[in-house]
Amino acid sequence: MTHQLLILGSGPAGLTAAIYAARAELAPIVFEGTHPGGQLMETSDVENFPGFPDGILGPVLIQNMKNQATKFGTQLIQKNIDKVDFSDPKNLKLWAGDEMYETQSVIIATGSKARWLNLGKGEEKFWGKGYTACATCDGAFFRNKVVGVVGGGDSACEEAMFLTKFASKVYLIHRRDELRASKPMQKRVFANEKIEILWNKGVTDLKGDNVLASVELTDTQTKDTSDLELNGLFMAIGHDPNTKFLDGVIALDEKGYIQVEGNTKTSLPSVFVAGDCQDWHYQQAITAAGLGCMAALDAEHYLESLKV
Ligand code: NAP
Repeated sequence: MTHQLLILGSGPAGLTAAIYAARAELAPIVFEGTHPGGQLMETSDVENFPGFPDGILGPVLIQNMKNQATKFGTQLIQKNIDKVDFSDPKNLKLWAGDEMYETQSVIIATGSKARWLNLGKGEEKFWGKGYTACATCDGAFFRNKVVGVVGGGDSACEEAMFLTKFASKVYLIHRRDELRASKPMQKRVFANEKIEILWNKGVTDLKGDNVLASVELTDTQTKDTSDLELNGLFMAIGHDPNTKFLDGVIALDEKGYIQVEGNTKTSLPSVFVAGDCQDWHYQQAITAAGLGCMAALDAEHYLESLKV
């Protein structure tokens, strides 16, 4: 059986695409992956998704989206697509384990993963309890608190600047003695009195009872260790898009993000993309949802064009 549309990924991008596609009677199937729901499943309060003035828990927001998608006829399959053959764009083949699916079109919404420090168990324990990777999402929870940002690139500098709106003090913790960020960005950081840069330092341990209370820093030159008290630690050492299985199949940029022509079109006419696996810049639930909507509309137009 050849399907009309398969959607890979069940974060806000994939599920919004599913809502639109199901209402357009494309009978979409969403492959939820082995960690259904994406990054919102690891988020507690979401206060910036429009329509929820009192905030909403990330997992509840995802469940609501799933309910909305299935109500209109979306089928959810809790499996990962791990292999594809897109050599015939009119008959795309995808495998979940040994099971093969054929379809006329695909929306890829597999998201990205924030890089962690790989410190072991501590990171999971404190994730969402002071340890996070999104200043835009969580910054407002740290009003008049002390926070750290790890990284020396544009994201780290931008997050540090943003956090000074709320925090009383922001430590920018960088493993080298110069920033990677652009010069104008560096200038802004150096001029901000709330930001103190801790050069040549790596975070080597996270400490606290239930919530993060301090971190162990190790000097990357001398190997000396010290403790730094803080309430929040924001990782800004980059993201990795979940696109490895597409290497050599559609056009990716040098970091693995899917290259787009226009908003959601990939290098293949029947394959569309939405969310953080294409958008390294905004990386918000609402922008991913918006791109999911656009991808579904673009897929719908493509499928219509096959009929004439
Ligand atoms: P990035 O430029 O790759 O910077 C990552 C930073 O994290 C680097 O300073 C790196 O240190 C550090 N890092 C990496 N792995 C680490 C580890 N395991 N432990 C400690 N530190 C680690 O990534 P990004 O800042 O997310 O930016 C991604 C792209 O988006 C860049 O092209 C950037 O210019 C762009 N961007 C632009 C803007 C803007 O123009 N407004 C804003 C955000 C991002 P080293 O420097 O030592 O390698």
